[in-house]
This record gives sequence, structure tokens and C-alpha cells, in this order.
Amino acid sequence: MIYRSTRGNAEKVGSAKAIIRGIAEDKGLYVPDFIPELDEPLSELVDLSYHDIALKILPRFLSDFTEEELRDCIEKAYDAKFSATEIVPVVQAGDAWFIELYHGKTSAFKDMALSILPHLLTTALKKEKEDSTIAVLTATSGDTGKAALEGFADVPGTEIFVFFPQDGVSQIQARQMVTQEGENTHVYGINGNFDDAQTAVKRAFNDLELAKRLAGRGYRLSSANSINIGRLVPQIVYYFWAYLQLLKRGGLAPDDPVNIVVPTGNFGNILAAYYASEMGLPVKRLICASNINHVLTDFINTGIYNANRPFCVTSSPSMDILISSNLERLLYHLSGKSETEVSRLMEDLEQNGLYEVSPKIRKGLEKFRAGFADDAETLSTIKKLHDKTGYLIDPHTAVAYKVYQDYRMETGDDTPTLIASTASAYKFAESVTAALELKDASDGFAAIRQLHCATGVAVPVELETLEKKPVRHKSVIDKEEIAAVVDAVLR
Ligand SMILES: *Cc1c(COP(=O)(O)O)cnc(C)c1O
Repeated sequence: MIYRSTRGNAEKVGSAKAIIRGIAEDKGLYVPDFIPELDEPLSELVDLSYHDIALKILPRFLSDFTEEELRDCIEKAYDAKFSATEIVPVVQAGDAWFIELYHGKTSAFKDMALSILPHLLTTALKKEKEDSTIAVLTATSGDTGKAALEGFADVPGTEIFVFFPQDGVSQIQARQMVTQEGENTHVYGINGNFDDAQTAVKRAFNDLELAKRLAGRGYRLSSANSINIGRLVPQIVYYFWAYLQLLKRGGLAPDDPVNIVVPTGNFGNILAAYYASEMGLPVKRLICASNINHVLTDFINTGIYNANRPFCVTSSPSMDILISSNLERLLYHLSGKSETEVSRLMEDLEQNGLYEVSPKIRKGLEKFRAGFADDAETLSTIKKLHDKTGYLIDPHTAVAYKVYQDYRMETGDDTPTLIASTASAYKFAESVTAALELKDASDGFAAIRQLHCATGVAVPVELETLEKKPVRHKSVIDKEEIAAVVDAVLR
């Protein structure tokens, strides 16, 4: 499998190089030359384990790696770090099936990809006989940062830098990051929002002078954000897995279509669902759910992407994003691989914060539906579902469930539906206790205890022990300082 840049002005590379580099040298994202089909009848795969399904998907995209290497990466990634033996439980509640993607170490779905990325990256380095140390730079809206830190902590040959918006993440999310152990971990709060952090990190990647200085000292920069193809590909697996669980449990007959609803921020998770459907997973609708920062809802409904609007901090902070990086990949595929069109659109976005796509791309969006939920709707959705069924969801998942309710009301579509459940409710305990109208908790940790007493749902071990962990990272910097900080640490 060959990877090329969405913007057409970079060397074509294999999967190992694409993972090492993270982003192409023309600032484009690496995309596979074609989307491979899964050419086996799904009904024959129902008894496979999560590992086995991953071994059906990954080799088709990551063909630089041997099957043995991939098996090794998969086994190291999806092990007892996950509190669920099946790795990803699929749970029926209300009128949908929830794909619980949050049973990894950091209680959010980012663990699905970031548990395996360090293994893919170190394997790729060996294959490419790269002897530089990889410095991974990551901007985070809260969940990626911690998952990347857990994934890369003390991995030989790597340094991991995480930049999070100082006032844009939950107390629990911040505490998870600033208590991170590991000699190679570097964590900074940024004065600004997620888009500021992401833009500044992208700028550091494109700083050729910085790259040259670091290369002189034996370092190469890479990315753990979902722009890295090594994150995207492992995310395809769980959509197949979830479909197969429904098939196995009689929720579906072979070849029946499903709808998939994804609470969306940087467009990585839903892009993986799109890849799954292009690979042959029977998907009727891909429903993109946003919070009040609903740039994507407007885009899917009008073909106009307009980031010129106020940035709102919400109860679903991991979706507080106005510039969704991975959309660039979808534009590339839907434009018929037109590098010129993608380059022009991304130029417009950079210059004016705005672009409008061609009729061809709009037509390609037909399978997508989109909607958004504000904070009040999100919280009341958590309460309604819990009151009715006893099932507890976090605010991100609640955004998705509310958008799905609206979709059903409007269309009457009763196709079986999978909802990507992206975080444990305990990770956003303050919002969830407010949603359930429990009495005001004094802070995030008190909220965790209250929520546990009120619902009886088990608290993830890592969150239970978090309060007593010492803070190790205390720096807060301006976004302009990112390059200088990296330069100074990597001496
Ligand atoms: C990252 C994240 C999202 C958004 O996923 P994208 O791939 O960025 O669209 C949604 N929910 C939670 C809990 C997340 O951590």
C-alpha cells in the first residue's frame, strides 16, 4: 500500500514511513492510494476475537509490516490494560447499540489507537533503520494527550510532548496529564483553546529550521494526533467488530445495513467509520454529531465550511474544535483524489477560515447526515436515558445519542444503529452529576464518588487512584513558545 499526500506535493511513501513522519512535507495528510476491500463474508468472521479482526484489517493498510509484526503490535496493545476482556463491549440500551470504546487506561476512546501507535512506530523505526529519537508532539483537547502519554511513557527511542488548552479541559482530564509518570514525558498547559494549540503544533512541524537543529542532535518530530495514519487504521477495526457482535447476537441478519453515529471533533473517528464502509461494511448512514461548535453540521448540510465563529467551551470538551483536520482526507477521497482541489480548499481555510466544496464532493457526502446538540440537550439526554434504562453515558456519547434521536424523529428510519461511546461517564463526572441532578459536587473527585453512589456503576481504577497522585508537570506557556520549548528540552 502506497501513501500519498492529500495536497500532492510530497514524496509517496509506504506505511512505515507514513507512520514515522505523521504529516507529509507539503503539510498534507497521508492517504492510502485506494481503500482495500475486506473480501471475506462477514458471517464467517463472527466468532473471531478482537485481535483476529484487527489482523484482518491492519495488514491491508499497513503492508510494509509482516503479519508477525502486526500480530505482535496488536497483542501488546490490546491486553490486560483494557478492563473488558472482549476489549470493546457492545451494549444495547434505549433504541441503539453502544460501542464502548473507553475501557482502556485513560477511560476514553483515544486508547483504542494510542495503545497500538507506539508499537507500530517503534516497529516502523526498526524497519526503516531510523536511528533518530522520535519526538512526538501532540495537541490535545483533553483525551488524546493522556492516551498518548500512557502509550509512549518510557518507550525507548521516543520523547512525548503534550500541549493542552489550560482552561479547555475538565479537572479530571488535566489531572490525568499533569500527574503523568515517565522520564520521556513533557506536558504543558497552553494559554488558548484547542485550535490555538493544534495550529501552533502544526506550525512547529513545518518549522524547517527547528527540524534541522533537532536533526543535528539526533531527533525527528512526529505526531500522535489523528492526522497520523497509524492512529486512523486501528480505529477501523471496532466498527467491523461491533457489526459482527450484532450479527452474532441476532441484532442483524447477514448483509443487513446499520447506521453509525459518531460524536465528532477532529473527524478521525467518523473517518474510520467511512473507511470501514468503503471496505465493505454495510452502512446506510454515517451520522456526524457535534456540540454547539457545529461547523461540521453546517458543512455537511450546506457544503460550506466556515470556521469564522465564536469558539465555545462545552460539557463535551473533546469536541470543542472548529478546524477538523481529518476532514481533509474525506475531501480528498470524495473529490476523486483531486490534490489541486484539496490544496485550494485548505488554502482558503488558512487564508479566510472558509471554503465551499464542488458539487462532486457534495454528492459524495450523500451517505452522511449531521446534527448537533447544545449543553442543555446533552445533559437532559444523559438523564433521560439513565432514568429509563439505568445505562450511563458521558456527555460526548450523549451528544451522539441526542442527534440520533432527532434523526429518528425526522426520518422514521429504524435501521439498527451503532453509537460510538467515546468516554466513561466518570471522566466527565462533574457534568454527569449535574445532568442527573445530584447535589452540587465540590470538585471532579467528589463528583466521581457521588456518581458512583447514585448509579452503582464501577469507577475505572485509574480514575479512582488519580486524586492521590503527585503533580509532576506544572508549566503553562503561550502558544508561540511551543517550538522554543521543544528546542530547549531536546538538548
Ligand atoms: C477525541 C474525542 C472525540 C472526537 O473524536 P474525533 O476523532 O476527534 O472526531 C469524541 N469524544 C471523546 C470522548 C473524545 O476523546
